[in-house]
Amino acid sequence: MKKLLSFCMLLLLAMPANAWVFLNDAQAKTPGLLLPTIIKNQGQNIRVCIDPLTFDLESLFAGSPKSVLLYNTPDGSQEAKTYIKITMPFIAPAYQTWFDTLRSTIAQAKREKEFADVLALLPSQPLSFNFVNQDATPCQYSQGQDLYIRLDDPQAIARYGHSNMALAYTRIYDSFSAITLPLEGYRVPEQLKNILLHEAGHSFGLGDMYGDQASSSANDKTYTMAKLQQQSSIPACMNNNCGGKVVNNVNYASYTPNAPQRLTCDDMDGLVNLLDYYFPERMSDRRTQGWLSFCQDKNVAYVASLPLALDEQEKKAFTQFVKKGRQGVSPIMGKAETILKQAQDQAAAQVQAQNQQRMQQRQMQEQDALAAALANQKKEDEYKKKMAGFQALPDECPVCHKPLTGENPVRLCDRDENKKIASGCVLVHKSCVSAIGTKTALKEFIRNIDPKYVAHTDKAFIADN
Ligand SMILES: [Zn+2]
Ligand SMILES: [Zn+2]
Repeated sequence: MKKLLSFCMLLLLAMPANAWVFLNDAQAKTPGLLLPTIIKNQGQNIRVCIDPLTFDLESLFAGSPKSVLLYNTPDGSQEAKTYIKITMPFIAPAYQTWFDTLRSTIAQAKREKEFADVLALLPSQPLSFNFVNQDATPCQYSQGQDLYIRLDDPQAIARYGHSNMALAYTRIYDSFSAITLPLEGYRVPEQLKNILLHEAGHSFGLGDMYGDQASSSANDKTYTMAKLQQQSSIPACMNNNCGGKVVNNVNYASYTPNAPQRLTCDDMDGLVNLLDYYFPERMSDRRTQGWLSFCQDKNVAYVASLPLALDEQEKKAFTQFVKKGRQGVSPIMGKAETILKQAQDQAAAQVQAQNQQRMQQRQMQEQDALAAALANQKKEDEYKKKMAGFQALPDECPVCHKPLTGENPVRLCDRDENKKIASGCVLVHKSCVSAIGTKTALKEFIRNIDPKYVAHTDKAFIADN
């Protein structure tokens, strides 16, 4: 979640900020997390579905504002297409930036050898996203998207995004990550870029770390810097500082034109720790022996994604140990083993308890997320139909398949004992009635013909086409 600038500045002045934290979803390895998907697919064919929504005015007047899909509102289809088109080019660069920054961070620190395992995991080609609904059809569960993007009214985002200051938010479900962005974000493309960079971090499994968010219930309590670090104004994208700009020792998510690097060493620490956590089997001894933070001013090492505070002496000794190719006994072995043991015990207990609970709820929730907007639309459509009470039937006699108009068609309805329409009504030529025969035959006839010929109201009319 990203917060509005002014609010964020106040908070950062007063509150401690921390560099990175796993989301509970990362700790539980929720399958919908996008980072493992991208790694496994080598960054190719990441399926994205985009639903532009709009505030439904009637519900707003009724006091319970709801977002509805833009597609089916008057002129909405074309508008939806435009929004989808505008949003598409922002997605890949945001995700690409995370991987590019990691590569350049490793290269600049001349630590390619140490992170050969990580580099081997990263997609070797530019990321390629597959936008599955460019024709502006509503996103469906069956489309199997990896990333579900909703463009919503900023008021709706503030309402559903945990905080009334939220600009965007991300939820992780069982088979996809869902990011909700402000519908009008395209008016400030640089801001949308920063928001997406931050939300991409969430979809990877990193939590918010600005202000009081560090202790948010969505954040994990084991894989976190919160225990080690209580400094203010750490410039990190997950600290709401994707612009990398520092003013009076206060960082904020403002737009810095041509900023060379929008992600920081803290974000990269978080990313490598996620990769270590998601793909332990692909990693070298570095993961369990430990590695030093990319932030050179920090006396912090990470062991199996857990932060470890070092003193100057230990940091020096460990630096030498790594430089010499990790020969002999690691100078932080004792500390590393202790924290590994702790983590193993803690994680085993946590994962088991949480996983069971989560798995049961997840699929329901994600179907709901997709269905909510659809359901609103459906209800509205049904209501309109009901209010109008008319049903258009094709200009074709279901018996002889000739046009009905000009021949005074008759209505034949299958009714129950209460005179209510049972299986339906058909419009046929007067001369074709005898071909159907009896009342029982009519019921059978209605059941067997194409449903497009069948009306469920007395107010059926012939569509003029
Ligand atoms: Zn956030
Ligand atoms: Zn006929």
